Amino acid sequence: MEFNTIIVRFGEMSTKGKNKKDFINRLASSINNHLKEYESSYEMRKRHDHIYLDLKEEIPDLVEKLKEVSGMYSFSLAKKIEDCDLDNLKEIALTEIKKENGKTFKVKTRRIDKSYPYVSDEINREIATVILKNTSLKVDVHNPEILLSIEIRDDGAYMFFETVKGMGGYPKGAIGRSLMMLSGGIDSPVASYLLMKRGVELSFIHFASPPYTSVAVLYKLEDILRELNVYQPKINLYVVPFTKIQEEIYNHSFEGYEVTIMRRMMYRLAEKLAKKLHIYAISNGESVGQVASQTLESLNTINAVTNYPIIRPLATYDKTEIIKIAKDINTYEVSIRPYEDCCTIFPIKKPKTMPKISECLKIEEKFDYETLLNEAIEKTELRVIK
Ligand code: ATP
Ligand code: MG
Repeated sequence: MEFNTIIVRFGEMSTKGKNKKDFINRLASSINNHLKEYESSYEMRKRHDHIYLDLKEEIPDLVEKLKEVSGMYSFSLAKKIEDCDLDNLKEIALTEIKKENGKTFKVKTRRIDKSYPYVSDEINREIATVILKNTSLKVDVHNPEILLSIEIRDDGAYMFFETVKGMGGYPKGAIGRSLMMLSGGIDSPVASYLLMKRGVELSFIHFASPPYTSVAVLYKLEDILRELNVYQPKINLYVVPFTKIQEEIYNHSFEGYEVTIMRRMMYRLAEKLAKKLHIYAISNGESVGQVASQTLESLNTINAVTNYPIIRPLATYDKTEIIKIAKDINTYEVSIRPYEDCCTIFPIKKPKTMPKISECLKIEEKFDYETLLNEAIEKTELRVIK
């Protein structure tokens, strides 16, 4: 069907009462941002139940682009018909259905404008009769190959065959902000995507250990974030110098506690930066059981340094599921590029899978980490990716 209007549905977010107006405005500006290059090609109408995009000319890859906007439950590629006279609708329905592939059909009408002189069933029947008379199509009400949907509204009738599933979730920023811990691995970009999809706006923190890790790691992170720019056009990446802290950890740690202490320091730094930025949650790519530092005992010991909510979108994901998403959002190829990880630069004896908080405190007493952490926050550098 040659469509001239996109009907955007909100799904989950339409249940959100008072916040709804704010959500619709956010979704509208997300869509506009996403289609910025084509702003003269369409006009937007906001309604309480849908957003409409009236197309003035074709927008290349429009369906793919709309699938990248969070907060959109589904959208339909519709033909808007101003003249709702039933004979006119019959004629257009017949012309359009003849162009479709399939042997069976069903007409499904929603009469939203209650002043329209026919009820839905009558409209369905009248239109189906014309199609049956003039084509070889058969009706199948349960499993039709062609579903012709018609919505009668006060500004016209909308006819469509195709409804596309959107990204779902909430519009960008509608749920607030979180500080995401970004490594160069596969997991953290996927966790970021899942949060962005839920309407959480992210700032990123990375712990860098030059000269043990090279500046190439930063280019890699920027490449990853450029892929995530699709969902969030402007991204702040805070790079925290971590070398001194790591060296001190390795000077003072008991065997097997290095990773635990290192992660406790990461959480402390993340909290300090988050507070400074007025952000009230921290997130990361941890997945329960994936590595030694991610056993539940270990997470408990690491998490004990902060009262901040730590959001772990991948907590229950298998690596194979994570990789699948990473490929879908184009971060996989960048993530598997070799890089030096700050966790792998010092030789680590078998990490403890059940580290004790009391042992951590004994190690941490041995050096003035608080000063080091504050220094690191002061020397943190911001990179903006857009
Ligand atoms: P990833 O694939 O995201 O690197 P991982 O499976 O390798 O995860 P870890 O290295 O234990 O697991 O890291 C767990 C999480 O901690 C990461 O997903 C990331 O959120 C955070 N993290 C690890 N290293 C860093 C770092 N250098 N800077 C910032 N965050 C980090
Ligand atoms: Mg890693």
